Amino acid sequence: MPPRIELVATGSELLNGRSVNTHARRLAARLRPLGLALARETTVPDGVGAIAASIREALARASVVIVSGGLGPTTDDCTREAAASVLGCGLREDAGTLQRIAERCTRSGRPLTPSRRRQALVLDAAEALPNPVGAAAGQRLERGGAALFLLPGPPDEFEAVLDGSVAPWLAARYGARPGVERVLMTAGLGESDVAERIEALGPPPESLAVAYTAEPGCVQVRVSGPPGADAEADAFVGAVAERLGPAVYAREPEDLAEAAVRRLAAGGRTLATAESCTGGRIGERITSVPGASAVYRGGVVVYADEAKTALLDVPPDLLAARGAVSAEGCAAMARGVRVRLGADLGLAVTGVAGPGGGTVAKPVGLVFAGVADADGTDVREFRFPFDRAGNRRAAAQHALDLLRRRLSGCPSRR
Ligand code: ATP
Ligand code: MG
Repeated sequence: MPPRIELVATGSELLNGRSVNTHARRLAARLRPLGLALARETTVPDGVGAIAASIREALARASVVIVSGGLGPTTDDCTREAAASVLGCGLREDAGTLQRIAERCTRSGRPLTPSRRRQALVLDAAEALPNPVGAAAGQRLERGGAALFLLPGPPDEFEAVLDGSVAPWLAARYGARPGVERVLMTAGLGESDVAERIEALGPPPESLAVAYTAEPGCVQVRVSGPPGADAEADAFVGAVAERLGPAVYAREPEDLAEAAVRRLAAGGRTLATAESCTGGRIGERITSVPGASAVYRGGVVVYADEAKTALLDVPPDLLAARGAVSAEGCAAMARGVRVRLGADLGLAVTGVAGPGGGTVAKPVGLVFAGVADADGTDVREFRFPFDRAGNRRAAAQHALDLLRRRLSGCPSRR
């Protein structure tokens, strides 16, 4: 039987809109390759009473309880005290942790104050788990067949202790065989389009589960099954990939910009970008991919019509006749940047991000994306329903999709 694992995330900031609780996702993602799953996550505000109550409830249900946050130096960090009250035990100063905290203080030239020293306290019977990126140690305590972990709250520290101590312990204790998982990354189709196409294939084999994660312009399809279900998973995923056709751009989690850079590099081709409504977002995404310098010549942000003419040779007559937000304007930007920057491909975006600036003929959300190479120029028109931020995000995403489709030689739609 796999263990029942629960997370108790503590912190008032997680409940009052100041912070997003990311620990559940991190933990679940670490558990999956071990063939384990998170059974429940509870978020509670700071305070000994609330934290103690949720630890008590979780320990009554689960065999592994992981508590995050509230191990810091200040008096509102009270997870240790709450756990001690549940277990009816005391706290002791852990010598190794104290030494690490003292060394950190020496290195940063700060005194070892009583509040810093508090972070060396662990539950009487607990083992301290090293925290390589912060002061407070993690802790593990076993009691009556159940294990209780206390982990620091800052995400980098939570992850460091999770990877360094918790995951290895779980793997050694429960050593489950990981289940099978296959991923298809798609772009250019909505979540319901993707789901309908997959459902049209009929129900998946009983042993497999299909799940979707959607963000604008990108849907990740995940097929999972029990250990050993590789052949069924491969056959099913093969059929799904065929049905989704050119919408599939990768077989493992990968950002669309990364996929585009990978294809540019594979083909030995270079890119230049011209951005209006996305304000450099595409260039930012491309340049965040390691190795982009081999394929990316550069980009320009051209907002004013004069800038489009001066920097990209977009004819003023064209802008006067068609407007900057037009298929013709976009095509001229893509061609212009390609030539000006001496790239094999030019990618351009122009649109009305909103909230103002829309007209009946050119409403908010109207965006053109275009890609030009030696063989010609392809422009697509989009009508996004989002706010300014969403329209800008979607414009960049769909432009990158247009680019990667051109690089793969597949149609710009479907
Ligand atoms: P510190 O020494 O920083 O006080 P701590 O162990 O006491 O560490 P908290 O005070 O609870 O942890 O949280 C520290 C920081 O980590 C806060 O900025 C908080 O928003 C963030 N944090 C805590 N829990 C989570 C969570 N579940 N998801 C994302 N961020 C979190
Ligand atoms: Mg704190």
